[in-house]
Amino acid sequence: MDNALAELIRISNETGGDPTLVQGGGGNTSVKTADGQYMYIKASGTALKDMNERQGWRRLRLDLARSVVLDKSLAKMPPQRREPEVVNRLLLACDDNIKTVARPSVEAHLHAWLDKCVIHLHPSAAGAYHNAKNGRAKLEKPFKDEPLPPLWVPYTDPGYLLAKRIARLVDRYQGQFGKGPAILFLAKHGLFITERTAAGALRLVRRVISRCNSKLRQPRTGKTRFVSQDRIDEAKACIERAYSDGTGEKATIWYYNNNAIEDFCRQRNAKKMLVGCLTPDELVYANGPAMWVEKCDPQSIARRLRRQIERERKPSVAFLVKGVGLFVAGTEKIAPTVRDIVLYSIFIRTNAHRMGGICILNRRQEDFITNWESEAFRKKLANGQT
Ligand SMILES: [Zn+2]
Repeated sequence: MDNALAELIRISNETGGDPTLVQGGGGNTSVKTADGQYMYIKASGTALKDMNERQGWRRLRLDLARSVVLDKSLAKMPPQRREPEVVNRLLLACDDNIKTVARPSVEAHLHAWLDKCVIHLHPSAAGAYHNAKNGRAKLEKPFKDEPLPPLWVPYTDPGYLLAKRIARLVDRYQGQFGKGPAILFLAKHGLFITERTAAGALRLVRRVISRCNSKLRQPRTGKTRFVSQDRIDEAKACIERAYSDGTGEKATIWYYNNNAIEDFCRQRNAKKMLVGCLTPDELVYANGPAMWVEKCDPQSIARRLRRQIERERKPSVAFLVKGVGLFVAGTEKIAPTVRDIVLYSIFIRTNAHRMGGICILNRRQEDFITNWESEAFRKKLANGQT
């Protein structure tokens, strides 16, 4: 096996199993070969933890992947034509013997502009900053001892425009510091780490997360409060009915509770904090934030779901019921991903709120994601492939 592929599997498996770093099929990784000709990258639709020697990756010609960002004709196309064209070109850049339909990660062209090993994650600890109104300024203190400062990337629609913006910012950074950035915080999106070696990249991931966490509020540990089975069953039946009345679809309802959920539900501002969508992933995998349910009344929940649909929003699939816990509507496969997204989201919301306010996606940004992901992501979601 090529050494670059072995490194790719290592960085993917080591980070992909931790839901505080990445949830569902989110995040991606890549490693460039020693001769600088190729780049191994995660395939779209596979989870990082499931990658192995046989599946979950593609090999691309690096010059072709880079040329996508440089192509000026793409910039002029409307997004609905441009994005499928980019996906197509990345597929054409693939040079391996893989006989599957697996596409390279949609962010492959972006990886092509970074150092040899790239780890892109959606860690809740980073999210607390990149989703906070003062997040950028708050990052200065924990990272003041880094040899070079992290690069802050303002929110940009994912896909081609994000790759282009990162290429530009990386070039400018290089001009300023004589070296490309190793740590990139992407507003309302996630974290990129890029290093020469797999070991170095993994070490840097750990350091960045612990630096971020050093200033954050963590949920308390210990036993959760007892919730009677009757109350759980009652709330579950209520959500089940509300979901089917509100959306016209039947779904299995799953119940989760732990310290983080309990902690969040007890906060005075819980309801206020659940307004708006944090990141593309929260929208794609969990249809936005969990719905806050003060009192379990199926009619009023169904009304709220109907209102979301009328406003052309995807109906909530997660429900935080005060004093009971989290309920998720969905298949056995997707429900744990939604739970992980909710845990990620409530951690970010709690901390960003304390930092001065939560940054959410605006309507235009949400609409772009909904349209952009419609082909690739929603299909995966429906099939429970994530
Ligand atoms: Zn991402």
